[in-house]
Amino acid sequence: MLKVDNIDVYYGNIQALKGVSLDVEQGEIVTLIGANGAGKSTLLKALSGLLKPKNGDIHYLGGSISGKPAQEIVKAGISHIPEGRRVFANMSVEENLELGAYLRNDKQGIREDIDKVYALFPRLLERRKQLSGTLSGGEQQMLAMGRALMARPKLLLLDEPSMGLAPLLVKTIFEIIVEINRTGTTILLVEQNANMALSIAHRAYVIETGKVVISGTAAELQASDQVKQAYLGGH
Ligand code: ATP
Repeated sequence: MLKVDNIDVYYGNIQALKGVSLDVEQGEIVTLIGANGAGKSTLLKALSGLLKPKNGDIHYLGGSISGKPAQEIVKAGISHIPEGRRVFANMSVEENLELGAYLRNDKQGIREDIDKVYALFPRLLERRKQLSGTLSGGEQQMLAMGRALMARPKLLLLDEPSMGLAPLLVKTIFEIIVEINRTGTTILLVEQNANMALSIAHRAYVIETGKVVISGTAAELQASDQVKQAYLGGH
């Protein structure tokens, strides 16, 4: 479904990604783990058109999307939930969800999808009229995920959904990620919480200072001494 082929991404003359290649197959949950500053968010930004690779190519559903405008990439079915879950604070929960469908004009389908989001996140239904800026961190993460789903993505890019959340809520968010995947959405998940990410992923890539250094099935990475030492707290 997605094939990243040897991309280099720069911020000015600082190279943040150095020849990164990876694949995501339809139906998978693939996770990208790595330390702060390794380049994980940069990769998601390149995939969603916010950054343009200097070299290399990105193929999605058979065509190149490298350097295409972000809006075209959303239309093609890739939704990005950035780190820090930026919701529109002065708009209600429901208005945020409606905005997620801004590229669609099928009123009936949009209504049905809002109801699906509420079924997935009952907490948002209770708070549908509440201003988003007053939601808790976990609720804002739910809203950011719900808003991205309103674009009916084929591929969801999730950046650090567990950040700043209490453990119980992290568990809930991860269960919902599995549920979203089960209903047909492919997922590329960036996480610092490698234990949780590997527990739900099919495959994983480890990225260090802009390069992929390890890749394999989630089970292989969970069993790898190198991964255990560096990313799983040595257990
Ligand atoms: P984190 O988990 O801390 O967000 P990350 O793996 O997502 O880490 P990136 O945010 O992709 O890391 O950053 C990769 C490198 O690019 C870092 O060295 C970072 O300082 C640098 N970088 C990121 N954004 C910019 C920017 N706008 N301008 C210059 N350098 C940047």
